[in-house]
Amino acid sequence: MVALSCHELLRVWEAGHGSPPYRRALLLLSASSDNEKVEDLASLNIGCRDARLLALREELFGQDLLCLAQCPACGERLEFSLTTNKLQAAAGETLPRELQVDAGEYTVVFRLPTSQDLMALEGQYTDTSSLQSQLLRRCLLGAQCGNEKTAFADLPNQVIEEVIARMESADPAADIQLALTCPGCAHRWQALFDIVAYLWHEIHTWAIRMIREVHLLASTYGWHEADILAMSPQRRNLYLELIGT
Ligand SMILES: [Zn+2]
Repeated sequence: MVALSCHELLRVWEAGHGSPPYRRALLLLSASSDNEKVEDLASLNIGCRDARLLALREELFGQDLLCLAQCPACGERLEFSLTTNKLQAAAGETLPRELQVDAGEYTVVFRLPTSQDLMALEGQYTDTSSLQSQLLRRCLLGAQCGNEKTAFADLPNQVIEEVIARMESADPAADIQLALTCPGCAHRWQALFDIVAYLWHEIHTWAIRMIREVHLLASTYGWHEADILAMSPQRRNLYLELIGT
């Protein structure tokens, strides 16, 4: 992974404006990777992609993550902290190219979803469950009932659920679930930690602040944007203090 300059990070933020999450993830990976081709980055499975994004997050903003959640039972807002280390512990191993589920008479062979799959399905789904079913269809490599070939549409729900469960357990970093307990009503639930949404939100907040700082310094001193972005945060902050912001 290569370190991203302020200039490069702003460029990524601009390029990802209005883009779907998978595209933002690819822009970030591609800007911070060491000469890897976009096609290769797009063919990483989602857990591997997300592990790299966690490492990038650590590089950009440090290890500590402040998270907010809302209790689904009583609506109380919950604030808690995590570390990138703890989340990275869920990832790491090399994942198999092909997986197999044997459920009763059925045998299903499949692979794990990648960014390419998400890219191919852009605009073709209306909700999470239709995305999940279309992703499964794409990732299915073969299915049999006894000695007969079976189509995806003919697989019983129970078999499909087993395939989904196996996909999730094979690539835990693609689906990081946090076990939360509400301090107000003691309700317990699982919440998904979405690194793409989390990191993009942070980058957006950072970019707005950075542009404001460039505006203040450029209009006070007449400096160029590129020179202001190339300064260390300490130097920028000192100048900002001097102009009374
Ligand atoms: Zn509650």
